[in-house]
Parts: sequence; C-alpha cells; structure tokens
Amino acid sequence: MPIKNRLAEMQPEIAAWRRDLHENPELMYDTHRTSATVAAKLREFGCDQVVEGIGRTGVVGVIKGKTDRHGHVVGLRADMDALPILEATGLPYASKTPGKMHACGHDGHTAMLLGAAKYLAETRNFDGAVAVIFQPAEEGGAGGEAMVKDGLITRFGIKEIYGMHNAPGLPVGQFSIKPGPFYAATDNFTLHISGKGGHAAKPNAAVDTTVIACATVMALQTIVSRSADPLAALVVSVTAFRTESEAWNVIPERVELRGTVRSFDPAIRLMAEERLKAIVTHTALAMGGQAEVIWNPGYPSMINAEPETAIAAAIARKIAGDGAVNDNTPAIMGGEDFAYMLQVCPGAYIQIGNGDSADVHHPEYNFNDEAIPFGASYWAELVEQRMPAA
Ligand SMILES: [Zn+2]
Ligand SMILES: [Zn+2]
Repeated sequence: MPIKNRLAEMQPEIAAWRRDLHENPELMYDTHRTSATVAAKLREFGCDQVVEGIGRTGVVGVIKGKTDRHGHVVGLRADMDALPILEATGLPYASKTPGKMHACGHDGHTAMLLGAAKYLAETRNFDGAVAVIFQPAEEGGAGGEAMVKDGLITRFGIKEIYGMHNAPGLPVGQFSIKPGPFYAATDNFTLHISGKGGHAAKPNAAVDTTVIACATVMALQTIVSRSADPLAALVVSVTAFRTESEAWNVIPERVELRGTVRSFDPAIRLMAEERLKAIVTHTALAMGGQAEVIWNPGYPSMINAEPETAIAAAIARKIAGDGAVNDNTPAIMGGEDFAYMLQVCPGAYIQIGNGDSADVHHPEYNFNDEAIPFGASYWAELVEQRMPAA
C-alpha cells in the first residue's frame, strides 16, 4: 500500500504549516510560539486531550480510537526546536529571526506529525489511543529527558514509542533504520591546564601550558587507538584550544581545551571517561603543571528495540515499497535525545529521505516538503496497524 490518499491531498496544507514554522524558528526550551501553534491545531483537530507544559514547553495530544479493547497506547514523537545558525537559503519563507534557523528539519517533523494527528482525529480507525508528542530542546537541551521526567510515559500510559528524523542524501520516499545502538552517547569535556606563565625567551623559568596541552591532545588519541577494543566504536575529538595569552612572546599561564567523546557501549563510555581523566591529570603532573577535568555527560546512546524496529521497517515498506527501506543502515556517531524515551519505553526511531539537500545544521539546509506524504502516512499507518480497529 502506498502513501495514504488523504495525506497526499493534505500535503499543501501541511507544507504551509511547515513553512510558517520555518519562518518563526525558536531555540531550545524557548519554543513558546511553536508550542502554542501546535496546541491550538491539536484542539482544532478535536484531540480528546491536549496537555501543554510537559518538559517545560512540550505538548502532548491524545486521540482515542473508535474502540478501546486493550487499553493500548502508542506514542509518536516529533521535535520542535531550531538552531542558532544564520540562514542562507534565500527562501521566500526563510527565518525572520537572524541567527535562528530550522536547520535540522524539526519544522518538517512537527508538521508531519500534526498532519498525521489531523488524519487520525478525523478517521479514528484504530483501537486504543495515540499520544502525539511534541518536544522542545532536542539540540543539546535534553528536552526528551525533561518530558520523561515530567511523567510522559506513565501519565499517558504509553506502551510503545516511535521517533523519526529526516536524512539528507537519502532519496525522498525512502526510509532507513537499524535495530540496537543507532545514535551515539555524546559526552563533552572541558580541561583547564595550568602551569607557570612567563617570558617566551625563558622557558626554563616557566611551566609551559601550551606544550602540556599539545602533549595532552596527542595522548588523548591513545584512548581510541590503544585502550578501546578495535571493533568498538569510539570517537575522542578535541575541538577547542584556548590560550590565556595571544601574544608572540608570552608563555600562557593557563590553557583551556574542549572536546567531545562519542560511544555506543556503556563499558566503552566509562573506560573513555576514566582514561581521559587519568591522561589529562598525569600528563600535566609529569610536565610540572596541573589539570582540572570537567566532564559533562550528554545524551545516552539511542538504542532501537528489536521487535519495534522490525514493526517500523514493515510499516515503512508498506508506505514506500520493499526496495525503499534499508533495515540495517549504519549507526551514527551523532546524538539524539529520543534516547531518553527509548530508555524507558520500547520503541524505534527511523530516518526518512530528505533527498539531495544540504546536510542538517548547514545554513543552506531545508526540509523537503515532498517527504511530507511519506512521513505522515508512516505515522498514520503505524497507528492503524499496531492497534487495528475492532
Ligand atoms: Zn540537529
Ligand atoms: Zn534534528
């Protein structure tokens, strides 16, 4: 069965919602206009319940099916937040706020889930209930975790949960998914290295923090090359190097380094943290300086449950056709805070083709409105298949 006719008909309407969101991007938890727009539409569609303020600016709509024999509830999640990027698309509906941009396609995710909610509220051709979940702060603010902490899963009785993200480079009308670890745990670190500043011509009278920092950057690469199982996935990247002085003739008293560690396996994640702390501390001590490590744990690894992944892939095949679904796509070292929802509820996260667009987080990126009928049909079909009407 291809895309749903009703949702194909609704494509221009859903695209118009998407373009309105695109023009009005909001960051992190500050999605007040977006959340209010979503809540107003859900009420207009006739959702049985619309709850705002879950995870600060998150919104949940509940739609009941024609029957409710089993008390089953499926959760469908979209993210709503934009990024601090200056848009360079030149589109007629480009961001009206310089420095804020929907560069990850969350405008499209929100619009597709709204489209599915409208269809499901009209047709109600299922048993049980669906919770449509709109979360803020996916881009580094752990909005997914905030919604879970506010009781998202228990409050609405959600038994299984699904997420979706667009994928540039994957043709429109195609889907990709994999069981097990799909997105990485994303931890960040800040290192403060201190020594003894002084004249660049008298290094013997100083403790040179630049040399300590360089040795530290190189030694950190041994975590992946020497300490991790060669078959395990692990990334250690130092991304910022800031000296206290920018002069040509001063040995700086302090250097700050920043970076990120990406992993899938919790044991590898812990090993990397322990090795990093030991290497940083002891490298500084060995060279006469001192180092402080600030470790900021980020999102956990996002792990797709196997049964729900098979279900999601089968639904995608129904919508897109057998040849248009890759059910063993490579994992990604990027992060995704849907991980928090999958930690407490079985479910699966799928990628939907965005065609030949700029990559996400690029100033020329744009969500592809041609993907709307596929994404919205996937959501609707998932509900109708998982909870068939009596
Ligand atoms: Zn993003
Ligand atoms: Zn995103």
